[in-house]
Amino acid sequence: MKIYLDGKFVDEADAKISVFDHGVLYGDGVFEGIRLYSGRIFRLEQHIDRLFDSAKAIMLDIPMSKAELCAACCATCRENKLVDGYIRLVVTRGVGNLGLNPFTCKRPSIFIIAATIELYPKAVYEKGVELITAATMRNHPNAVSPAIKSLNYLNNILARIEAVKAGTVEALMLNGQGFVAECTGDNVFICRGGQLQTPPSSAGALNGITRSTVMELAGKLGIPVREMNLTRYDVMTADECFLTGSAAEIVPVASLDGRVIGTGKPGALTLKLAAAFHKLTRAEGTAI
Ligand code: PMP
Repeated sequence: MKIYLDGKFVDEADAKISVFDHGVLYGDGVFEGIRLYSGRIFRLEQHIDRLFDSAKAIMLDIPMSKAELCAACCATCRENKLVDGYIRLVVTRGVGNLGLNPFTCKRPSIFIIAATIELYPKAVYEKGVELITAATMRNHPNAVSPAIKSLNYLNNILARIEAVKAGTVEALMLNGQGFVAECTGDNVFICRGGQLQTPPSSAGALNGITRSTVMELAGKLGIPVREMNLTRYDVMTADECFLTGSAAEIVPVASLDGRVIGTGKPGALTLKLAAAFHKLTRAEGTAI
């Protein structure tokens, strides 16, 4: 595998970052996870826009233009002869001294990995995921905003540990007020009375690209969507529930903390939206 690292393609074994990079020392940096379908990168511009917004929020100047970054993502896929896969685009703060001050860092490092994707087990898509509620709450938006896709994922990892220890793959995370924020690596939707409902970004959710795609598709299919605060009770008593993410795509949820949601099987709206999503991923995207 060839990795894009600061303007060059290097072998996997040579793709190394300094131990003085603040991305390593402090989780100081931003990233994106993007999908490649049939030689086309899905919603590439949206991902690059979000990367620049994340970078702006942490006062990191990305030393490449949006167009150059798009081109580098495409080139990395071509270099690896990839047709379907997952692209990890990372911008670290760069090499600095041992102090916290990010402005001691000379130049951000940019690397791109284009590889095959590790999906959730097939059974998760067929039967639905059994969610637990994590005791670890989602970061407060005035601490590290969940809208920033930063390299600092410990909040999510602590919750993911709870999921794994409980024998499942995802956990529902609540915000400081007790409302649903999102899952550790996915956004959350419920269906109730034919309406889709999802927490607003202000509840502590990432502005997911898959989330916005699903909202767009729902609009086209005549399914009403509402961004609103949701509680665990709302999820448990919903007709359907599903998760969205670039890696996971659309994942039906079977239960929350042992309470079966709806029939416990992937619901009709979930399946309809998943079909429309898969169709769209094959129909659009930036040709590499
Ligand atoms: N929330 C979190 C915390 C995530 O890490 C992700 C995956 N990037 C998502 C939501 C879903 O976002 P997207 O649809 O843009 O991949």
